[in-house]
Amino acid sequence: MDYIRLLQEHKLKVTPQRLEIVSILNKYGHVNIDSIYEKLKIKFPSLSLATIYKNINIMKDKLFLSELKIPNEKSVYELTKEQHSHIVCTQCKVIIDINLDLNQLENQIIKLSSFSLNESSIVFKGLCPKCKNKNN
Ligand SMILES: [Zn+2]
Ligand SMILES: [Zn+2]
Repeated sequence: MDYIRLLQEHKLKVTPQRLEIVSILNKYGHVNIDSIYEKLKIKFPSLSLATIYKNINIMKDKLFLSELKIPNEKSVYELTKEQHSHIVCTQCKVIIDINLDLNQLENQIIKLSSFSLNESSIVFKGLCPKCKNKNN
């Protein structure tokens, strides 16, 4: 993945810190701000958490990143891609993307509420296969 071009396409100034944030998100998928901070500090020891927040928010405003809010958990960030839903393991906290066909559900919601829909965020929780087997 060409991170420099990706940032430029979103009209974001390319900085070493931003390149590292992209690389972290690309590698780990969904990451909360504390983990981003921990990983960034290895390369940029003097970086402050406030600076990371600022960078993340700018990247979010440019739709480069998406924030995923998980009930009772810290928000995680991922590189923006096609709309998708998520499932979170309540034990190991792993987060998996799932592509659901939401057409039927959305039609139902429109019918029941008379709203027009802009966005949706669906998070399921459960036990991943690894944790499920451990518990047996
Ligand atoms: Zn698990
Ligand atoms: Zn995702």
